[in-house]
Amino acid sequence: MLLTIDETRYDDAHQRDCARVAALLSDGESHSRPHVGEALQMTSTTTSRVVADLMERGLVIGEAGEKSGRGRPAVQFALNPLRLGATVIHISSRSLLGVLVDLSGRVIQRLGADVPTNANNETMAAAMRGLVTALVGQCPPGMAHMGTSVSVAGVVNVRDRTWLITSRWPHIRNLDLAAALATVTPVVVVCRHLDAEIAARTIKDAADTRDSTLLLHWGWGIGLAYSIDGEPFMPAGDPFGEIGHWRFNMLEQRPCGCGNHGCLETAAALWALLPQLRETWPELSEDEEIVAGQLTGLDLVARPEITTALHLVARSLANVCRLLFPRRVIVTGPFIGNLGIWDAFEDAFQAEGVMGGLGLPVLVADRSSEDYAIVGAVRPLLNLGLETFIRS
Ligand SMILES: [Zn+2]
Repeated sequence: MLLTIDETRYDDAHQRDCARVAALLSDGESHSRPHVGEALQMTSTTTSRVVADLMERGLVIGEAGEKSGRGRPAVQFALNPLRLGATVIHISSRSLLGVLVDLSGRVIQRLGADVPTNANNETMAAAMRGLVTALVGQCPPGMAHMGTSVSVAGVVNVRDRTWLITSRWPHIRNLDLAAALATVTPVVVVCRHLDAEIAARTIKDAADTRDSTLLLHWGWGIGLAYSIDGEPFMPAGDPFGEIGHWRFNMLEQRPCGCGNHGCLETAAALWALLPQLRETWPELSEDEEIVAGQLTGLDLVARPEITTALHLVARSLANVCRLLFPRRVIVTGPFIGNLGIWDAFEDAFQAEGVMGGLGLPVLVADRSSEDYAIVGAVRPLLNLGLETFIRS
């Protein structure tokens, strides 16, 4: 379920009852008034008062249900997902994708904006403000805009809502996203793209497969997210999982966008490999989705730079597994769609082992999912917005 409501956060009994009813109705189904009262152990008077209040405020809508037997049909109530909306800014290769999402998590509008490679903080901030303003202008009648979630690729301090560095736009440094968007949206939430994606993936998983999952993205940049029992592991909102900037002696001559030399990304990220690959295949795109399709059919595994890349990524991943001991590793990104690369990568990872007789985690290749990333990014904002709405 997308919405999670923490009853303990309400001191006022009526507001708490409103929150409980909203939580029950957030399953997207219709419920009758007697069913709501029974499910939540509320008297019929309380149920009627709460439902009437939520209907008056437009969060709940009612309609006559199926007629069964004699008498008038019972009225069925449901949450009105169009009452509250939120915007998400998502990074897609070198462009921004802005989406407007309703309370059920459904995307109802999407807009793109290209941002040139040489963009600085001000250019990026202006592009983001433009997207949010355009999306808010497209809210359906009656929808209140709760705020904006920015899902960031690169190194980010979630707590300070500051985008520190990104290999896609090298001139962006320490961009204060909350300040950048303050004039166009009431609330700004910042998350790391991979944390949002792993959160949404584990919501969908059955409870017994949720324990300790690692998500490794091997694409334009290289990074990972980790989740335990369905909760992303984010130590106090500081940066996490930047294995793309782990350094290797054999790469020490190579400069990285982070300011150091010798980072894993300088040998294995798409940004580093693309110029070499384009000498043979000039048509290769820098868009991860497009290049994923282009790479599938190519004979890449024989190329020495690819062999080096996949061995370094496999060794880095095995080192992470000796630190976090995940049960499962999901690997995403454009390279692993190439069967030759995936087979060689799996072999290299197996050869690494973890430690002694300890079993290796299950390795799963999957597509990067924009849908997961958007749902994961907007979820905290929907919960926060609903709480603010009920309190107001
Ligand atoms: Zn680096």
